[in-house]
Amino acid sequence: MGSSARLRLYMDGEGPLVLDGGLATELEARGAKLQGDPLWSSRLLHSDPDAVREAHYSDACDRFLLAGADVVTTATYQASIAGFIRHLELSSEGSRELLMSGVQLAKDSVDRFVCDARPSGRRRPLVAASIGPYGAFLLDGSEYTGAYAEEMSVEDLKVWHRPQIEVLAASGADLVAFETIPSIKEATALLELLREFPDSKAWLSFSCKDGRRVSDGSPFTDAVRLANRCTQLLAVGVNCCSPALVEPLLDSAGSLLSPDLSWVVYPNSGEDWVSEQGWLTSEKTAASILELSPTWMKQGAGLIGGCCRIAPAHIAELRGRLETSCTSSVSAV
Ligand SMILES: [Zn+2]
Repeated sequence: MGSSARLRLYMDGEGPLVLDGGLATELEARGAKLQGDPLWSSRLLHSDPDAVREAHYSDACDRFLLAGADVVTTATYQASIAGFIRHLELSSEGSRELLMSGVQLAKDSVDRFVCDARPSGRRRPLVAASIGPYGAFLLDGSEYTGAYAEEMSVEDLKVWHRPQIEVLAASGADLVAFETIPSIKEATALLELLREFPDSKAWLSFSCKDGRRVSDGSPFTDAVRLANRCTQLLAVGVNCCSPALVEPLLDSAGSLLSPDLSWVVYPNSGEDWVSEQGWLTSEKTAASILELSPTWMKQGAGLIGGCCRIAPAHIAELRGRLETSCTSSVSAV
């Protein structure tokens, strides 16, 4: 069975697919120094690939696959051919190979998990190849505003993203994850590019400003209308926002969502990121993902997970919570 057929089947199965959490968070918890690094977690593809492999899966302790993730996302969010050439002094061919290796590490981890540790009844996990916004390369905080898109054309954004999509579409990943996309213009560019690779499937996930708008200020309804027109998309949604924003965002556009699409939601812990200081730990914790996830499921979310500050232990709890909710909704019928 082709991966897209398998994906469809999974998503039509019982209950939502559980995504993983923040890969960089897990890598940092294991000692990696990523803050301020222009390549962020993707540097480890070069300097410490074993750390990436082990963040996806280790038989010694609970990492994302053992915790219950049905989908693992690659360490390629902030990876680009231009970035690898600039910061690692690789050739363009070497850069393409390094980007491709991010998918291979995730696939190897899935293979090892399936062979060694998959509990009976668990679906074979999927690999989502991460593509972040152009702003992640700029390193000026604009990935969360999308401000750069005002001075760029859709064509400029396509020129930036094409080399990465070209590699990831050929990588054997089950799907592409367009993540933390701040603007409608950049999403338009990504979906136009996706059509150049007609065998590839994707989800499209936005960063958001509040309970109605994506980061560039456009209504989330515009994002959903855009997604509805792309037959290669499996899901549209939001990530790396506060969990509290998810329900109103989905509500604002719920009636518009094409029946061919599902919601994908994977907020962060709800803590605040402050430049130069990092994550400000507060009373808010990952508990809110746990509390709110059954609501998202009722709203039709087919893919639910976590982004920054969400660790394997939170994913294990999320999986438990969703399984309980599925069972109780089935028995209520
Ligand atoms: Zn995040």
